[in-house]
This record gives sequence, C-alpha cells and structure tokens, in this order.
Amino acid sequence: MERKITKQVCVGGVPVGGGARIPVQSMTNTDTRDAAATAAQIRRLAEAGCDIVRLTVPDAEAAESFREIRRLVPDVPLVADIHFDYRLAVMCADYGVDKIRINPGNIGSEDGVRQVAEACLARHIPVRIGVNGGSLGKPLLAKYGSPTPQALYESAMGHIALLNRFGFDDIVISVKSSSVTATAEACRFVSENCEYPLHIGVTEAGTRRMGIIKNAAALGALITSGIGDTVRVSLTDDPVEEVYAARDILMALGCPGHTGMDIVSCPTCGRTGIDLCSLVAGFEKAVRDEGLASLDIKVAIMGCVVNGPGEAREADVGIAGGRGEALLFAKGEIIRKVPEDGITAALIDYIKDNFVK
Ligand code: SF4
Repeated sequence: MERKITKQVCVGGVPVGGGARIPVQSMTNTDTRDAAATAAQIRRLAEAGCDIVRLTVPDAEAAESFREIRRLVPDVPLVADIHFDYRLAVMCADYGVDKIRINPGNIGSEDGVRQVAEACLARHIPVRIGVNGGSLGKPLLAKYGSPTPQALYESAMGHIALLNRFGFDDIVISVKSSSVTATAEACRFVSENCEYPLHIGVTEAGTRRMGIIKNAAALGALITSGIGDTVRVSLTDDPVEEVYAARDILMALGCPGHTGMDIVSCPTCGRTGIDLCSLVAGFEKAVRDEGLASLDIKVAIMGCVVNGPGEAREADVGIAGGRGEALLFAKGEIIRKVPEDGITAALIDYIKDNFVK
C-alpha cells in the first residue's frame, strides 16, 4: 500500500507521519480533575493497545490534575485537549504533555497563540489542529451554509496560518465530520494541499455498531488511498472499545505494524451441523481472555466439509464442522476429530502449543 509521506512529528516517542506505523488514539471519558480515575483509564487504554491517549483539560483545576496524571503515567504519550484558553495549553506544556490539541483561532488573542507556540517549540511538543464539523466557526458556516468539506479544509488552513506566523511547524491536522463522505473529502483536500500528518476518523460516529461501520468506511477509503497518519475511532461506548475497533480496522486494511489473529469463519447455512455462531463468539472471547489476539496467524472456523476444509487448509489452524463434531486442521493436514463441545479448547491448545513462544 503506497502512502503519502507527510512531515513527521513525535508524540512522546511515538512517531506520527513520515510513513511511520499508524498509531491508534483514544480519549478518556473520566473527569480529568479525578487524577486517579483518569490515570487508571489511561492504563486500561494503553493495555488495550492505545498508542496515544488524549484527555480534556477544560480549566485550571484540570490542568493541575494533569500534572499528577503525568506523574502517575509517565510512560504513556498524553495529549491535552484544550479550547478557548491558551493559558491551559501553556500550563500543560510545563507539566510534561506530549501533544496539545487546540484550534489556534479559538483560544483568544494572537499573543495567546504566540505563547502556546513558544511553549511548545521550546519543549518539542507538537500541536494538533482539530477541526470538527460541529464546532466550525460562524464566518465559515455563513460562507458555506453547512460544515462542508471545503469549509473544514479552509478552517484548518486558517488555524495553520496562525501557528506558522510564529514559526511553529510541528503540526498534525484533523478535519472531521459525522458524515463519512464529508470526512473523507475534507481529508483529501488537506492531503492534497499540505504536508502535515493527518489524524483521521469520523467524529460523533454513534454507538458501537454504526460507529465502527462509519469509521471503517472512512478509514478504508482514506488509508487505501495512502492518506492517514494516525487514527481515532470515535464511539459512544467505553473508550477501550475504540481501541479494539481501530486496531481491527487497521489490521483488516493490512497496515504495517498492525498484525493480529485473523479469524475466518463462514456465514453458516442449512448445511451447518454445529452451533457455529456461538462457537466463533466463544472462540473470540477465549482468544482475548488468553491474550492471544496479537498473534499473527489465520484461524479458520468453518461450518461444514464443503468449503470448510479448503479454508481450514489455507489457515494456520482451523476446523471444518460436521454433525456434532469437527475436523481439526493445521497447515493443510488433518490433525484429528474433535467433539463439538471441545472445539474451542482444541483450537486454543493447538495455538498455545505451536504459536506462543
Ligand atoms: S462453509 Fe459450509 S456451512 Fe459454512 S456457509 Fe459454506 S456451505 Fe454453509
């Protein structure tokens, strides 16, 4: 997959852009003023595979709490999300933040932008300009009538110009909408017209099912065109689910550095002789519980001997169901017959014995 090579920035040791592996991001939904709860959620996100975690810093109390959060999680790259008040950005820069998300046009005077730019320059902290359809400025809304892709793009360019005025260039851009097509088109405009890395994803995408579908559609369209340097899958759900979804989408797209277990299973039909739906769901859960999801292997779970053996043979390990039992395959060879209630255990045991170092 060819990628557009953007300018690279570094977020607490994680490179973003310049052809680097696409890092996964998410955002805490705890009260930032509760440092212990926020730090615990940051840890959960990092354990789930989140590379960069953002947290909101709405006031000075939250900024002071950020200082403690930084102390509690010194090893996870953290982004402070700040609106309207440049002083909070300067405080977070002092307290060791790794990136700031801010829209320079919305944080007060030009002098405030200058102070943020200077604080970030001095500490090599990049800034993400995050333009969202829902918070587009009034002049652009009046000009375009709605948050069109062109309006999102123009807004981003305006914020970039403000930062550039103070010699600041370590910029990441996002232009997001709740519409898949508007998000993709706005990202294409930005990608065609500037070299800054792009943070991509559909914002306010909804609950788990539709949110994942919308994000997969947008990320698929963009990443297969070579666009996108870091992702967030926004969901109305536990943020850990955002991380799982983002990782799975990047894995499905074959993005380098995002390998993991590929489970191939058939849609079932009248031939299916075992309870395949429950079997696959149970197997997926067991894989996660046993910490095997990151193994770069293909597992085929097929309902019958028509297409089953073919897929199972192509996989590292697999089963083809019969009536109340299944054939266990590995590397193209039949290993043995397994009763239906022992299939998950047989697969898990085989994987542990053969693929876990
Ligand atoms: S693999 Fe067999 S059971 Fe599954 S959908 Fe195909 S024909 Fe039906």
